[in-house]
Amino acid sequence: MYERYLRQIVLKDFGFEGQEKLRRASVCIVGLGGLGSIVSLYLAGMGVGRLRIVDKDVVEEVNLHRQILYDMDDLGEFKSYAARDRISRLNPEVDVEALACQIDEDSIEEVISGMDVVLDGLDNFRARRIVNKACLKHGIPYVYASVIETYGSVSVFKPGETACFECVFKGVSDDDIPRCEKVGVLPAAVGVVASIEVAEAIKLILGWGSNLIGRMAFIDVYSLTFHVFDISKNPECPVCGKSMM
Ligand SMILES: [Zn+2]
Repeated sequence: MYERYLRQIVLKDFGFEGQEKLRRASVCIVGLGGLGSIVSLYLAGMGVGRLRIVDKDVVEEVNLHRQILYDMDDLGEFKSYAARDRISRLNPEVDVEALACQIDEDSIEEVISGMDVVLDGLDNFRARRIVNKACLKHGIPYVYASVIETYGSVSVFKPGETACFECVFKGVSDDDIPRCEKVGVLPAAVGVVASIEVAEAIKLILGWGSNLIGRMAFIDVYSLTFHVFDISKNPECPVCGKSMM
């Protein structure tokens, strides 16, 4: 049963023990667009035991330049169901649970319950705020990622240990950030950002220690620049600040 994973099992510090950790892990991917496509394919291929994948949208032709989970046959289908079918074909050993719901205050408990890690595949701050709050409440690490045009960022928000999403983005609303419908998004940028997101999630699960706990990576493939900087907890944060804990 380990045959398909041998090329990662032989990695230094991975081993059969690492593979077992992946098999026992439950990972939620919120949003199945560009980031979610790559993240879910890699995690499924690597043998994460349980994936819960969430997206309310259907596949559109305009998605196909970057959302590599889908093809022409999936047009009009719910992304979460099309993704489940694709993932099951890639690796039938993975237990995939597909939810075609919107991320809101009502759905979020069901979306993240029982998960070890939540991975960001979202395209808006409204939903990220809801995910952040719920992950804090339940003590679940939230691997944040976003990408637009040719750049993106990744961080690991670990409840009780690091800053949270709100510490960093307090006061920023969806009206303040560019939308990919307007400014576009380069698939190669999505690939780089998503790969870093996967690596950080895997490091969390394997106990390797994530490099982005308390830090944020900013990557731009146009200028080919890569910056990692420290982020600190905001004591006045309305979500994780002292008065809220
Ligand atoms: Zn905070």
